[in-house]
Order: sequence, then structure tokens, then C-alpha cells
Amino acid sequence: MNRFLSAASAAVLAFGLAGGALAGVTEEDLLNDANTPGDILTNGMGRDLQRYSPLETLNKDNVKNLVPAWAFSLGGEKQRGQETQPLVHDGIMYVTGSYSRLYAIDMTNGKEIWQYDARLPEGILPCCDVINRGGAIYGDNIYFGTLDARIVALDLKTGDVKWNKKIANYKEGYSYTAAPLIVNGLVITGNSGGEFGIVGEVQARDAETGEMVWTRPVIEGHMGTLNGEDSTMTGTLNATWPGDMWKTGGGATWLGGSYDADTNTLVFGTGNPAPWNSHLRNAGTPVEGNTGDNLYAASRLGIDPATGEIKWHFQTTPREGWDFDGVNEVVAFTDKDGNKRFATADRNGFFYVLNREDGAFVNATPFVSDITWAKGIDETGRPIYVEEARPGNPLEAEKGEMVFSVPSFLGGKNWMPMAHSQKTGLFYVPSNEWGMDIWNEPISYKKGAAYLGAGFTIKPIFESHIGSLKAIQPETGEIKWDFQNEAPLWGGVMTTAGGLVFFGTPEGEFIALDDETGEKLWSFQTGSGIVGQPVTFEMDGEQYVTIVSGWGGAVPLWGGEVAKKVNYLNQGGTVWTFKLPKQLAMAN
Ligand code: CA
Ligand code: CA
Repeated sequence: MNRFLSAASAAVLAFGLAGGALAGVTEEDLLNDANTPGDILTNGMGRDLQRYSPLETLNKDNVKNLVPAWAFSLGGEKQRGQETQPLVHDGIMYVTGSYSRLYAIDMTNGKEIWQYDARLPEGILPCCDVINRGGAIYGDNIYFGTLDARIVALDLKTGDVKWNKKIANYKEGYSYTAAPLIVNGLVITGNSGGEFGIVGEVQARDAETGEMVWTRPVIEGHMGTLNGEDSTMTGTLNATWPGDMWKTGGGATWLGGSYDADTNTLVFGTGNPAPWNSHLRNAGTPVEGNTGDNLYAASRLGIDPATGEIKWHFQTTPREGWDFDGVNEVVAFTDKDGNKRFATADRNGFFYVLNREDGAFVNATPFVSDITWAKGIDETGRPIYVEEARPGNPLEAEKGEMVFSVPSFLGGKNWMPMAHSQKTGLFYVPSNEWGMDIWNEPISYKKGAAYLGAGFTIKPIFESHIGSLKAIQPETGEIKWDFQNEAPLWGGVMTTAGGLVFFGTPEGEFIALDDETGEKLWSFQTGSGIVGQPVTFEMDGEQYVTIVSGWGGAVPLWGGEVAKKVNYLNQGGTVWTFKLPKQLAMAN
């Protein structure tokens, strides 16, 4: 750790007097975030999104002594899903809340320093609750996105707005919920709205001014920009899409991205192609050479951070037809043999390992039971489809043949981030075991209206549980242990060098497991369901753990029969911060 700290200090000395650069948090600080436990500047506790802390003060023996230090209510009547990851800098915790709110909290006592409420217009169209997943810190600013598809820069100390820019038009179905990503002085954002026939895009802005530097739409045929001028077309027009379907082709980049500093690559996932009814996107025989794969929807894209050019792509579900968005986070790691890899657990139920240099496929294994739509993944990374498990083609004005599909459209894993332990080498993946009845219907595009062409009902597949936190060995795909939970898991996971895996449940429990066995070592009832992302940090020599509690998100809105099972859960909005008292740190 000292090596990183001294490198960062040297960089500050070397660049501290350079003109034009923002003061405060630097690119070096962001680069080293995972190794500096006194602050949390980035989503994912490091831009490779490992969610791994080197802290070991809190360990398997003493975690039973973890107690609340303070709690903070987000207040108001706006108690909807709280999916945020707190940030920590210079004695202040920054927490985003439902309805595009942001709070600065004194870390020593939980008192509010300032609060920012975005003034949201009537008619916003968030698909899956009014959530926000966190901010990003750089210079003297904190950046976060709002439900009306805007990105805001605020002064860290005062909450004053530095700039406020439009990502896209909310009236067309665009919104924004992900944590922004900051690389080399650029604020990099995706967009939400894949259920409204929008076009997924990645945008990079100057962090100081908010001026656009480049844009990269992710559906073939659309033109990118660099410094205000056309740059290159994404893909090749009509190579994998029929007719004009690419113009409203979906691929929302709604979960944001990661950054692999070793290969200087942004990695963004792309959502479902639009509409859901895949038969409308099938190239068919008239278009020679058109594969009908619908690039680059349901894919992971490696992007050059300086220009926005696509360096590589890996498509998890070609001609996707189940709403298996390909947005899930891509985590850079080094495997047991020293290979530089990416791992990603897709909504389609398969856990993929890719090569970090070029995104090339390495291996894939199922991480949920009873997958119906594919027999497996072939050696090129392409699914081996079970064609009769694809929802049928609706004939004119009629419902197509219904199929029962596993996973459900909410995924073997949805947005909730997994964690990777550098200590055990395992990935801790929050998964759900459920299925759905799904059928296709005719649909035509109408601006600002839902664009699905499908109907569905989610159903449990096991009596005992839906949620299943799994420890996965990335080299083999072997599931070392799993921890089952009655309700679906919808919050993030974090792991520590102290040998602990933290996560929360919709039933309200905040839990620490043994990283090697999955044994429950500690839990605390937070009073509302947890769909947030835990973090840990060090302050004055003591280790702290924070989670935001507040039930909501997509499950109560879209969960069909499962939603009925969880509708007794209370809403909320509370930041819980725990610590191990000094005198108990050595106790067993
Ligand atoms: Ca840090
Ligand atoms: Ca979707």
C-alpha cells in the first residue's frame, strides 16, 4: 500500500502546479482508490469494481462486536428504493437517494452538512423505480445523474451547483440512474430507457466545464462525435439489423461502466435490443449476410477513453429475446495463474471470463439452476440456443406462443454488483433463481411510449428461496458455496481482507459471511429492505462499514407473482454506519 501512496504523493508534487487542472482529488487518487481505505472516491471502491477492501481490522473473530455508530434518515415522503453506494472523502460521506437527492453527512456524528434536491419535471419515465446508484468525486466536485437524464457537478464542501448538463431528452424515455465514471479528467456516463426504444450511448464530458468531448452510440448505424464533429459510425449499417430497426434499437448503457487502467479501456455493457419481440429484429433471408445478431445490444464494449472509439466487443446474447440486458458490471482481476482477466455475471444466467487485452472469450459457466433458453456457451462464446425456448412469433394481431423461461427477465443476476476477493480469488455473486411465462405481441414504435411487444409473469422456481449469494471460482466456474435467501437479492456485495462478505436482504438484514465457507457471522436488522451497496473505510484507526437501507427497485414493480410475496416489506431510507469499538477490536 505504501508504494501506491508514495507514487500518488510524487504525482501530486509533479502535477500540482500544472495550469488548468482541478485542485483536490486527482486522477492519481482515483487510480489508487482501492488501496487507500481512508476514502472512497469511486463507485465499486476502485474503478475496476472489485469492491474489495484491504482492511483487516474487522475480521471473522471480532465481527460479532460490530455495532451502529450512527444512522441518518433521508427523510421526506420519498421513501423508495435506495440502491446507492456511499462515497467518503475528507471527513464527509456523500449519499445519493431516491428522486435524485444528494446528501453530505459529517462522518464523525451522522449530522447533515448539506442536501441537494434535483427539481425534477413532471413526466419523467424511469422504468424501474426512482432510484440512484451513486456519485463520483473528482477535483473539488461531486458528480451525479438525475432521473430527467441530466448530469450535475456540485461543490464538495457547499453543494453549490457548478454545472448541470442534459444527457438526453427525458420526454423520449431517457433517464439516468448509474454512478458516473471519471477517467483522465472526463466524466463518463451512459443512459437509461431501454424499454422505450431509445438508443444506448456513452458520453464523455470535461469534468471542469461539463462540455461534451465525445459521444459513442452503441447501436450499429449511429454516428459518434469527437470535439463537436462526427467521428465514426458505430459498426456497419445493416450488418446485423434489418431495415430501420436500428434507429430505435435500445441497448441502453444504464448501469454505467468500469475502467481497466492496465489496458486503458472503458468497459460499458449494453441493454436489450428494442423491442423485446425478437422476431421483429430477425434479418431473415432477404438481407444477405445480415446475421440478425443486433449489435451492439446485449454486449460488453471496450472503449478508448480519449476518443470514444470501440476497441472490442463481446455479445453475450445475440438476437436477444428475453430482456437479458448485457449491462452487468465487468470486473478486472488477475486469475490464479497471473492472467489478466475480466469477469461478468450476465442476466442470462452465465458467468463469463474474458481476456483483458481484447475482450476475447475465455470461458463461461451457468451460475443459476435450470436455464432453459441455452444448452451452454460454445468455444467462441456464443450461446447454444434451445430454439423452441424462444418466445414464439406472434402472427398478425395475435399473441405468440408462450414459453416458460429461466432465468426470468429480471435475470440470474440484475444490476446488483458482485465483489471479488484478492484474498480468496473468488467472486461473490448476488443471484436469483426464478423463471417467467413470456410471450410476444405485435408492437410499433411511438416516441415516449413503452416499446416491448411482449408480456410476462415472473414466478419462483423453488419453494425455499429465490435469492442465492454464490461464491464462484472464476478459473473453473465452480460454485464453492451459496447462501440462500427467501426474497430475491437486489443489493450489492462487498468483501474484505479480513475475510468477510457483506450484503443485505429485502427482509432488512445486513449480513457478514465467512468468505471461505459462507457461514453467517453477524447480522443487523435495519428496519427496511436493503437494495443498496455496502462500503467499508478507515477513520482515526477504526474500521467502519456503511449500508443504505430502503426497500424498492424493480422487483415490487415488475416481479409478477414474486412481487406479491414481498409486498409486506416496509419502505425506508436510512444510512446505517457501523464500527468496531477500539476496545473490542482485539476481543474474540
Ligand atoms: Ca480510497
Ligand atoms: Ca431491459
